[in-house]
Amino acid sequence: MAQHQDLTHFNTLRLQSRAQYFAAPDTPAEAIALIKQYASQMPITVLGGGSNVVLAAELPGLVLHPQFKGRRLLRQDDTQVEVALAAGEVWDQVVAWSLAQGWQGLENLSLIPGHCGAAPVQNIGAYGVELADVLVGLTAINLTTAEEKQFSAAECDFAYRDSYFKSQAPGQWLITEIVLRLNLQHQPLKLGYGDVAEHFAQLPVGKQNAQGLREVICAIRSAKLPDPANLPNAGSFFKNPVVKTSQYQALKQQYPTLVAYTLASGEYKLAAGWLIEQAGWKGHQPGGVGMHSQQALVLVNHSHNATAEQVNAVAEQVRRDVFTQFGVWLEQEPLALPRGL
Ligand SMILES: Cc1cc2nc3c(=O)[nH]c(=O)nc-3n(C[C@H](O)[C@H](O)[C@H](O)COP(=O)(O)OP(=O)(O)OC[C@H]3O[C@@H](n4cnc5c(N)ncnc54)[C@H](O)[C@@H]3O)c2cc1C
Repeated sequence: MAQHQDLTHFNTLRLQSRAQYFAAPDTPAEAIALIKQYASQMPITVLGGGSNVVLAAELPGLVLHPQFKGRRLLRQDDTQVEVALAAGEVWDQVVAWSLAQGWQGLENLSLIPGHCGAAPVQNIGAYGVELADVLVGLTAINLTTAEEKQFSAAECDFAYRDSYFKSQAPGQWLITEIVLRLNLQHQPLKLGYGDVAEHFAQLPVGKQNAQGLREVICAIRSAKLPDPANLPNAGSFFKNPVVKTSQYQALKQQYPTLVAYTLASGEYKLAAGWLIEQAGWKGHQPGGVGMHSQQALVLVNHSHNATAEQVNAVAEQVRRDVFTQFGVWLEQEPLALPRGL
């Protein structure tokens, strides 16, 4: 176990941060032993790939960075497979691997950074697909009692960028393994989001399959989103806010170019990036921290010594400015660690 571990390179926003204690267990058994030994003495925080967190300068207690590896085929029939993936597996490597096996279902979720263990926490989603569409269940260890528990998909209580682990029991579990159900390649592909269908149609007919769709999604994402390796960021910094029809109609009347999507519930999801841009924050980066010049929804860090305080100050000002103009309060997507700060 390391002491005073520098976490600057363990978070994609590259915020300066240090863990009081840090361990990277290779197996769930090692993690259980650490939890049993330390849970009563100090707080324990789980850190995966660090692509969806705002890390404070000091993280008190023990930071656990699971390194569990493994991909197991649990069952297969004529139409589907079930695979178990260890928490430390890199999500996008798993997507590429699953497609190479001839399994369909994860292609729309290509190029999302992070590890498999974090994927259920905010129910990762992109281009019309969410983890909830493919997850069968998962195994997790309680961070207080060190007991293991199997969760069904229903128990994960998934919602838009949300789950039991994010809202109801934040910081209480370490997810060790997820189980996904994927299709053998004869399901219709999900192309109905943004400009995906248009790009897909331009592929040679022989490449119009799940692998081809992955390539389209990777190309669209790479063109749109800054790569954290070149420009530190945590992806979308705010959720797209959902408003009632009456509020949508009033806003649409005042702002005819308002970008919004109808939901099955009859409510409207507003494009947070559009709201932020209208509030004057696109490309505004006081002190090197602010909203990206091409993607107003992405908070970027150009500074070499930025801290969570700087990020929080910018995020707060963006929220206030959007609220003042539109009466809509933006909710932050990346989680602040440690919790409660
Ligand atoms: C450029 C970029 C693009 C992105 N695009 C998308 C996108 O399209 N869709 C999307 O949904 N997200 C997106 N994200 C956000 C991020 O990639 C996902 O939320 C991802 O699942 C985070 O994984 P991680 O391993 O980095 O988690 P971390 O950032 O390390 O952790 C996130 C949260 O999960 C908890 N956690 C981590 N591992 C575990 C575990 N094993 N058990 C329990 N809790 C755990 C942490 O305590 C923390 O609260 C993007 C991020 C970036 C930087």
